[in-house]
Amino acid sequence: MSEKENVVVLGGGIGGLSVGYFLARTGRYHVTVLEKAPVIGGLCASFEHDGFTLDYGAHKIYSVIPGVLDEIRDLMGERLLTLPKKNRLFLRGHLVDYPLKLGNLASVLGFGTFLKLGIGYALELARGFANRQPPRSYEEYMIQRFGRPAYELVFEPLADKVWGDPATLHPEMARARVPASGGLEVILKLLGIKKETAETNAEFFYYPRAGFGDLPQAMREEIEARGGQVLVNVEVQGFERDANRVRSVRAAVDGQPQEFPCDYLVSSIPLSLLERMIFGEGESAAADELQFRHLVLVYVFAKRDLALEDQWIFFPEREFIFSRIFEQKQMNPELGPEGRTTICCDFTCDEDSWQWAASDDELAQKAVEGLVKAGFVTADEVENTLVLRRRNFYPRYDLQYVEKMKAVDARLQQVENLLLTGRIGMYNYNNSDHCVDMGRFIAENLTAGRPPVEVWNDLAQRVAAYKIVD
Ligand SMILES: Cc1cc2nc3c(=O)[nH]c(=O)nc-3n(C[C@H](O)[C@H](O)[C@H](O)COP(=O)(O)OP(=O)(O)OC[C@H]3O[C@@H](n4cnc5c(N)ncnc54)[C@H](O)[C@@H]3O)c2cc1C
Repeated sequence: MSEKENVVVLGGGIGGLSVGYFLARTGRYHVTVLEKAPVIGGLCASFEHDGFTLDYGAHKIYSVIPGVLDEIRDLMGERLLTLPKKNRLFLRGHLVDYPLKLGNLASVLGFGTFLKLGIGYALELARGFANRQPPRSYEEYMIQRFGRPAYELVFEPLADKVWGDPATLHPEMARARVPASGGLEVILKLLGIKKETAETNAEFFYYPRAGFGDLPQAMREEIEARGGQVLVNVEVQGFERDANRVRSVRAAVDGQPQEFPCDYLVSSIPLSLLERMIFGEGESAAADELQFRHLVLVYVFAKRDLALEDQWIFFPEREFIFSRIFEQKQMNPELGPEGRTTICCDFTCDEDSWQWAASDDELAQKAVEGLVKAGFVTADEVENTLVLRRRNFYPRYDLQYVEKMKAVDARLQQVENLLLTGRIGMYNYNNSDHCVDMGRFIAENLTAGRPPVEVWNDLAQRVAAYKIVD
């Protein structure tokens, strides 16, 4: 064996694969990625179903983090398509531009509502000049930026559908998810006088022509080409420890026990699972306090070549079960057969919600009803449906989440050679470009000889500034 240091990465989603890819590329580490599922990619994978290549909801490659798109272009080259972004919001039976523009809203909502939105916004603007307190919740953040009428019309129902009661959400949720401009800039944008920038709205994006899952696949190929390994069907059973370091990972690979020595352990698996593996099953996990929402995806297959003009459309109104719909063939028509299409309807819910308790048939029926009502398919065009569920995929930043995360970090940082990455692994509401950035950051800093705890704390600060760009 070489003198390379061993890094074991838990989880083969884009978070785990990114860190594996950047570490393997340095030539200094032997990388082993351990994935529980039979396939790699996690939520960034693609899968085959009924003649289609499907993603887990709308996934685009876009980034405002310097250098990240260059890294992805270098990795994927000709495997990427460049697409102009087309996405809107469905409101009161009409499609309106998203991010919102008042001119566009006016024609759809009528003069009365339009005036109400304008007055609401002007009132908030005036309050802004009167030294108002910084926002304490998602609700206050959005009202201060857009005014109460616009908040109640669009942002409150959409946020409630995705994360639950916005008054109990940390303002950080809004900062990470919504273009952060304020004051005059918002007015100018709403009036359509000032354009959105690349920082707030992607005009184009990249998409792997073979399906989004080709991005994690390309990373896997590079890790393997550099002598690393990416193993699937792995059940991690525990760790061997010397004092405060993990010395090796015990796992069953395809049912066979194996031990993986590690100088560094990087985890992208759920935090409470990791915590229990380290401190023992009987212990309570600080990470249990963190809140998540479950994800549901309903794919509706229909007998028509294309159903939408957009790649994806947001649905804030509560009468629709979904908060977004996405047509796979808008990314690349070759991902499905001619004369047929599929629309993926996504939404989130809590463990104790009626949606989570509902049968797949009931959810599918509600999704189809919504699509028919919105006019994107007719009932007799619908051929069949597929319902997929994923537990705890949406971090929900409640008002205390910063303190909760500090407690988790303090506990896990007792392990000196451990680092966290990814969306679930680091409890960060993020996209794949952020996962790429995390992987690159970890690799650069470990290679520079910095102790993991320093890298961890700096990464946590970096991650806190990430923004999702629509
Ligand atoms: C509807 C939707 C739309 C999105 N749109 C976009 C978009 O447009 N652009 C974008 O870039 N991103 C988008 N994202 C976000 C993107 O999917 C995530 O940022 C990304 O998938 C997070 O990757 P991850 O590796 O952190 O987590 P995951 O994908 O969850 O990967 C974690 C991996 O760990 C594995 N694992 C779990 N437990 C164990 C264990 N005990 N042992 C070993 N392995 C384990 C899991 O099987 C999984 O493969 C979207 C997400 C959703 C749901």
